[in-house]
Amino acid sequence: MAKKTKAAKAKKISGAKRNAKIKKMPKDELKKYKEQLLAERKKVEGDISHIAENTLHKSKRDASGDLSGYSYHMADMASDDYDRDFSLGRVTDEQKVLYAIDEALKRITDGAYGLCLQCDKPISKNRLKALPYTELCIDCQKKTESK
Ligand SMILES: [Zn+2]
Repeated sequence: MAKKTKAAKAKKISGAKRNAKIKKMPKDELKKYKEQLLAERKKVEGDISHIAENTLHKSKRDASGDLSGYSYHMADMASDDYDRDFSLGRVTDEQKVLYAIDEALKRITDGAYGLCLQCDKPISKNRLKALPYTELCIDCQKKTESK
């Protein structure tokens, strides 16, 4: 029995030749991030459909609105437009997050999760905990933002 475990361990090590220089993230830790990402994904998806539904309802209401004197309702319409733009902006943001989450999940599968896409250095744990789908370490993020 003991021999078998040893053999299995040796096999695992030889399989980890990629990113050999960088300490690999422990599997249980990786699993935690994956669960967090999946939970986040569910939440964001829910948000998107919620916003989309609200926006759709609003558009329908506008379309069936009264035909008399639209100038009277200009102010209302303007604020509705604003709401709609705001909602669409939010959907776009949420879709970006959704995309980032999918990319992060891919990186978990590839074994590249937790590494900065720009400098290949590990992203700090605190940062990953706060933003599990982040692609950049804090230094690269700052560089991107200050451009
Ligand atoms: Zn970096």
